[in-house]
Amino acid sequence: MTKPESAGYDYDVVISGASLAGSAAAILLARRGVRVALLERRADPEAYKALCTHSITANAYPVLDELGVIPALEKAGAVRNEARWYTRWGWIEPRAAPTGPELPYAYNIRRSTLDPLLRSHAAETPGVDLLLGHRVTGLVREAGRTVGVRTATPQGEREIRARLVVGADGKDSAVAKFAGVPARLYENARFGYLAHFRNLPLPGGIGHVWFLEPDMAYAFPNDDGVTVLAVLPDKKRLPAFREDLEGSFSAFVRALPEAPPIDSAERITKITGAVNYPLHSRKPTAPGVALIGDAALTGDPLWGVGCGWALQSAQWLAEAVALAASGRGDLDRSLVVYARRHRRRLRGHQYLAADFATARPFNPLERLVYAAAARDESVARHMYLFASRLIGPLRFLNPVVLAKASAVNIKHRRAAAVRLGGPPSPTP
Ligand SMILES: Cc1cc2nc3c(=O)[nH]c(=O)nc-3n(C[C@H](O)[C@H](O)[C@H](O)COP(=O)(O)OP(=O)(O)OC[C@H]3O[C@@H](n4cnc5c(N)ncnc54)[C@H](O)[C@@H]3O)c2cc1C
Repeated sequence: MTKPESAGYDYDVVISGASLAGSAAAILLARRGVRVALLERRADPEAYKALCTHSITANAYPVLDELGVIPALEKAGAVRNEARWYTRWGWIEPRAAPTGPELPYAYNIRRSTLDPLLRSHAAETPGVDLLLGHRVTGLVREAGRTVGVRTATPQGEREIRARLVVGADGKDSAVAKFAGVPARLYENARFGYLAHFRNLPLPGGIGHVWFLEPDMAYAFPNDDGVTVLAVLPDKKRLPAFREDLEGSFSAFVRALPEAPPIDSAERITKITGAVNYPLHSRKPTAPGVALIGDAALTGDPLWGVGCGWALQSAQWLAEAVALAASGRGDLDRSLVVYARRHRRRLRGHQYLAADFATARPFNPLERLVYAAAARDESVARHMYLFASRLIGPLRFLNPVVLAKASAVNIKHRRAAAVRLGGPPSPTP
């Protein structure tokens, strides 16, 4: 059993960062009987993360459900995130099997709506003290273990002691830095810009993703009739792109297959973006410390998975540590359980994403499966489950699926050859 080195904790858990991961963890821990201080450096309860396209993948639905926020999200206009994906083999259009269940979904909802909603839900949860305007500036350590944080507040410096300190403070996590947990960085060979539009209809009213090899783009309908458009070109294009940002952004969108009608739409935000956005992975625990959300793992924005994983990692942490964090179990052992689950669920995804972030061409397996997904509904559904992070890379590329994809592509080539009167072509 982990023995508290020091009595007199102010809280069981102190969380740095009241965005998605932090607010969710606070709610889920407090509901399990844990006393939580939820610290946020920004003073404004309506603050939100602007650099995000907020399409929340279906893996997050069970967490949103457990948080009890789905009715509020739907009332706020959240849009179910169906999508179609353009590839050189045609559109992949995942849809439910005629006699099967509907496809799992979550929501597109702007962070300006989502972040305050989740934060106020946390503030209203018994057992959570939301402390706005509290920036974590250091950790309190005793005998090689973290036992609290130092914070800068409008009233001055303050020390808050707790059994467990949670870093939910984003990709540049102060908690990780002060705890000496290094980040492993993976280069991202694409840059990205995004903007919000009104009167920008999308075919079928659903999201669109363009795989342009190596460039990418996506468009998602959101709450309040707003469509978010993002372009993610190869960094080789950056100098020319930046010379005329607005012109380049519009030209890029106009050139997309089935391009959204950007010229008749109203842009309601600036075009913002990031030209250098490496992926990060950190060990998600240290003595007396846990990292969740982007603090533990920052993915590639092009897959739109960070919000879902922020919520899921909050849930995994709460399930693993709630008893021990409130003094009813072994905290170190429960942190090992959390770290193992985090690694098992996300390491494979991050490995594939880091490889794809080099802007390399599709590899043979991707060509096989993406081509088949554009031609066959069951492979398209399988791909959707992977993109929604409901299955991992091993299940995505399992031998049965590869055999099915090969059969689909061979059948397609034979049919094409019959139509053209020649031998089947060797490419997928
Ligand atoms: C361009 C772009 C597009 C994206 N699009 C998508 C998408 O479509 N779908 C998706 O799922 N993900 C997307 N993401 C990723 C997503 O934005 C993040 O994964 C998600 O916000 C992570 O949530 P979080 O709670 O871990 O961290 P954050 O949302 O970064 O929150 C960190 C919080 O910690 C606070 N904080 C920081 N330092 C301190 C401190 N010292 N003391 C106290 N508080 C502190 C911050 O103020 C903030 O509130 C995108 C990212 C980018 C860059």
